[in-house]
Amino acid sequence: MNGRQTFGAPGRVREVTSLANPLVKEIKALQLKKHRDEQHAFVAEGLKLVIDALDLGWSIRTLVFAKSALGNPSVEKTAARTVASGGNVLEVPERILTAITRRDNPQAVLGVFTQRFMPLQDIHAADRDLWVALDRVRDPGNLGTIIRTVDAAGARGVILVGEATDPFSLETVRATMGSVFAVPIAKASQDAFLVWRKNFKGLVAGTHLEGTTDYRAVEFGNGPVLLMMGNEQQGLPEALARSCDALIRIPQAGRADSLNLAVATGIMLYEIRRNALPGATA
Ligand code: SAM
Repeated sequence: MNGRQTFGAPGRVREVTSLANPLVKEIKALQLKKHRDEQHAFVAEGLKLVIDALDLGWSIRTLVFAKSALGNPSVEKTAARTVASGGNVLEVPERILTAITRRDNPQAVLGVFTQRFMPLQDIHAADRDLWVALDRVRDPGNLGTIIRTVDAAGARGVILVGEATDPFSLETVRATMGSVFAVPIAKASQDAFLVWRKNFKGLVAGTHLEGTTDYRAVEFGNGPVLLMMGNEQQGLPEALARSCDALIRIPQAGRADSLNLAVATGIMLYEIRRNALPGATA
């Protein structure tokens, strides 16, 4: 069944006060990946995020707002946009927002959106394009932070390789601070990724604790770059490491055996972009 239909007749505004309301139960169920996958939907919290998402052309299924936000012109305008696009609008007491987001002091507005994945086959990197491939990323905070940093560094997007944490979980979406709406995300098995990688016309730079090349010594040039980052516990597996043109190490002092994945990704992105940060503000 089409996910949208289960979210009730579209284009209606209603006041809901019970946690047993079927629409509220459907949205609350999106806390679980199983339901997000079935519905192809996810929740994003905060009025700014919802407005940004609409401006970027994302499809909103339901807007939920706290009674306390009634009369706020931005909320009312967003509600009107939601209805105009065929979505539902629910006005609820704060305890329902708390239940949906599992948060005390929840934001007054949230949106339920349709998920989007970019097909891997549609990625054809051009000069200056920078893509990040993440091997089996497990931590939602790491993934969200990386998506946010990819956005800030002007990279093109993220490829999730193998079994990864869900980019559309509440925790990940929260950590992206809205960048989930701006950064294309693709996903692929390791095998499918390795087939696609063969046609990648540019430098494939893997990061590895046993890498022989210092990250500051690499000439990234103007061609496309694919940055490959390893799993938090195990690093890059042999098959992925072998597919890289260079294995790069970020030197470390002290006792830490490695850097946090999101920190290492941030360092690499800014190093690759050192001489060219497109559209950057000062
Ligand atoms: N125990 C893991 C290992 O042996 O690789 C540590 C993985 S580390 C937490 C996660 C990923 O961040 C690594 O696979 C690599 O991609 C990147 N990374 C972290 N520190 C790094 C460093 N000093 N040099 C290069 N890459 C690093």
